[in-house]
Amino acid sequence: MSITQINRVRINEGLFDLTLDLEKGLISRIAPSTNASAGVNTSSVRDAEGLHYLPSTTDMHIHLDKHFLGEPWRPLQPFITLPGQLSFEKTMLASLPTTVAERARRLIQLLLSHGTTKIRTHVDVDPQIGISHLEHVLQVREEYRGVMEIEIVAFPQQGLLRSDSIKVMKDALRAGAEYVGGVDPAGLDRQVDRSLEATFELSAEFNAGVDLHLHDPGHLGLYTISRFADLTLQADKGGRTAVSHAYCLGQVSESESRELAQQLKSADVAIITSVPLDRAMPRVDQLIAEGVTVHVGSDNILDAWSPFGNGDLLARGAKLAEKFGWILDDALLQTYPLISENPLTPKEGDAASFILAAATNAKHAIASAPIREAAFSGGKLVGGKWSEQFSLISI
Ligand SMILES: [Zn+2]
Repeated sequence: MSITQINRVRINEGLFDLTLDLEKGLISRIAPSTNASAGVNTSSVRDAEGLHYLPSTTDMHIHLDKHFLGEPWRPLQPFITLPGQLSFEKTMLASLPTTVAERARRLIQLLLSHGTTKIRTHVDVDPQIGISHLEHVLQVREEYRGVMEIEIVAFPQQGLLRSDSIKVMKDALRAGAEYVGGVDPAGLDRQVDRSLEATFELSAEFNAGVDLHLHDPGHLGLYTISRFADLTLQADKGGRTAVSHAYCLGQVSESESRELAQQLKSADVAIITSVPLDRAMPRVDQLIAEGVTVHVGSDNILDAWSPFGNGDLLARGAKLAEKFGWILDDALLQTYPLISENPLTPKEGDAASFILAAATNAKHAIASAPIREAAFSGGKLVGGKWSEQFSLISI
């Protein structure tokens, strides 16, 4: 049975009753709670008893095809060289008995349980595996349409030029990927300009966005991002390109990273971070101050690169706020646009994609990342404790 009415939801300082339009997937009515709102619990009406409203989260960097969730434990090896790591990962993934589709569904269910309703996934392509991973992810995207919004990046993990992947990238973009991915134009392809130009040629040919993995360090990385911003401007792709990781922005001096932040702002290039604890990362507060769009993503979750990660974006937002010492109210609240596309205060007609959690207010929620009592996507209950009392969504 579906829930169409949730009473006594805390939004800012007040309690409100929310009516859901399940056909349209919207919140159709938001009315102040009354005495009659309390204690009503039927198959279609729930009393939230003051649980706080939070927007559903957006995970802008994830890999549906790399993780080992639900698989037997696989010990990792020390990371020595990137090419060595790449062949290690390829062997591990090829040895898994399950399909990419099966594993993609597992991770999506985990993300939904935390209240994430939109993701951007990078999907490996190369001349050996072709677009086989992508075909599975495209199939799973259809299964979850209306519940999980999925942007797909065709990702030449072995290096675009290094692995001779331009043809397979074209196949991927033709098949339905809407972003051109890439990785380390210097470190892997060893030709920064040629690699970036080939990336943007693909994006022009298929009218695609671009999202580049960049681990190249220091001034090498800085040069790469600067060229990336130039090419974004030249191609008139502002707002549709991003650099993921960009550790170099935390490795150079503050004035150097500020100068590049200004260039990113004027070219409208976003930075996406997974908030790593074990290395330098972009100065997110500086990027925000300069007006650069910043998103957060999980990246590795129990895969050949890292055993860490649980797919909880609210918790990752808390990690970011803590790492940068955002203890003031305004600073805590500035975390939300990095982990969500939806507003903290909903209005009638907004998508019914939200989280209910026990928190005093939104500041407390980002600081404590409480357990999700309920997570809704397009009006459907998709996660949290409430979902355990219902037979979960039928997809
Ligand atoms: Zn990644």
